[in-house]
Amino acid sequence: MIRIAVQKSGRLSDKSLQLLKDCGIKFDNGTRKLSSKAKNFPIEILFLRDDDIPQYVAQGVADLGILGLNEVEEKDQKVDVIKQLGFAGCRLSLAVQKDVDYTGLEWFNGKRVASSYTTIVKKFFADKGINATTEEIGGSVEIAPGIGLAEGICDIVSTGSTLIMNGLKEVETVMYSEAVLIANPSLNDEKKELLDKLMFRMEAVQNAAKNKYILLNAPNDKIKEISDLLPGMKSPTVLPLAEEGWSSLHSVIEENDFWNVIDQLKDAGAQGILVSPIEKLIV
Ligand code: ATP
Ligand code: MG
Repeated sequence: MIRIAVQKSGRLSDKSLQLLKDCGIKFDNGTRKLSSKAKNFPIEILFLRDDDIPQYVAQGVADLGILGLNEVEEKDQKVDVIKQLGFAGCRLSLAVQKDVDYTGLEWFNGKRVASSYTTIVKKFFADKGINATTEEIGGSVEIAPGIGLAEGICDIVSTGSTLIMNGLKEVETVMYSEAVLIANPSLNDEKKELLDKLMFRMEAVQNAAKNKYILLNAPNDKIKEISDLLPGMKSPTVLPLAEEGWSSLHSVIEENDFWNVIDQLKDAGAQGILVSPIEKLIV
């Protein structure tokens, strides 16, 4: 049995649970539950505050955890980051009041910076040789400059609209973050084996998400040219159509590659191009 900690309620919760479900793991998640054992995989899910996850994983109360890399760095516990999960992408940035004449990082010398991520901020300034102080606050960090608590802030930014609404401007990026899978560094063999199984499934889900199944019709004399445009897994499957001189090509393509080659495919004579999602992909 392996235990995984996920955020109880917040921005990471739905996607963390969806990832486990996409891995074929079935469990109940009644809103009041603190933990839930899966019905078809030896895993128990613990629902916790994301702030607490690094400590629980470091102590081995949970073996694995899903949370933002920013929170992992902030808590600075002994855990291994083993996989980037590709959701909850954001950055941790420094911002100042919008009318400040910001000249560069040295501006922060002698200034106070309010943040919920003071460990990260202190390390950032220490690395850059800047002598700023930090004010730790739990939330609503954006109001700190307006009420005179600090001259700058360091907070999570995704679009930047919250900063603008509060009369602030983003001036430096401290780190980029996304949801990650962390693990206790000394899992026993049984748990390592379960982790490998879980990772295998997560990779299949991630590969499926970025790839598409593509089907198209091509004149037989263009099969070579069109096949060369489709990076695919090995080479496309080619099946004859009922209509003489035509074939159907089937392959797998990354969504981005698809948009890059679509015009070339059409110019090469491809017709009836069908692109559909893939549920699982094992490469
Ligand atoms: P908890 O009550 O569990 O401590 P929280 O308020 O600390 O929750 P959330 O706001 O739910 O946390 O954010 C959780 C994580 O989601 C953050 O640590 C960060 O990694 C990511 N995140 C936060 N804000 C955004 C955003 N605007 N866009 C993308 N990801 C974000
Ligand atoms: Mg939190």
